[in-house]
Amino acid sequence: MNIAFIAHDKKKELMVQFCIAYCGILSKHSLCGTGTTAKLISEATGLDVKRFLSGPQGGDQQIGARIAYNEIDLMLFFRDPLSANHYEPDTLNILRLCDQNNVPVATNVATAEVLVRGLENGDLAWRDIVNPKK
Ligand code: PGA
Repeated sequence: MNIAFIAHDKKKELMVQFCIAYCGILSKHSLCGTGTTAKLISEATGLDVKRFLSGPQGGDQQIGARIAYNEIDLMLFFRDPLSANHYEPDTLNILRLCDQNNVPVATNVATAEVLVRGLENGDLAWRDIVNPKK
């Protein structure tokens, strides 16, 4: 499975802690993320996380394009609900594309936990049914 990570600045430390906690599961999958988020996860966990551009420089759009091409299976997007970029078009577009392609998306750590555990248990079958891989 291809898992993508984006964390707004105030949520980056939480994302790193989450990835440390679930490193064992995450290590079985192909990982990518926006520049700073991916770098911090890699440094803290040793996981191989493909780095796209930093979010404000276009990394959000790079990930959005991969969602549109059905190349992302799970999106972990820790948004900061108190910051203005919560409402930025790039942020909203990621969520729209996830809905369009039936990509499970977590915008907070509690949902991320359920999704990653579900991934481990093979519970995310619905996506394969509605979006079979060619
Ligand atoms: P970053 O981008 O991981 O490069 O900081 C995240 C964001 O879009 O805020």
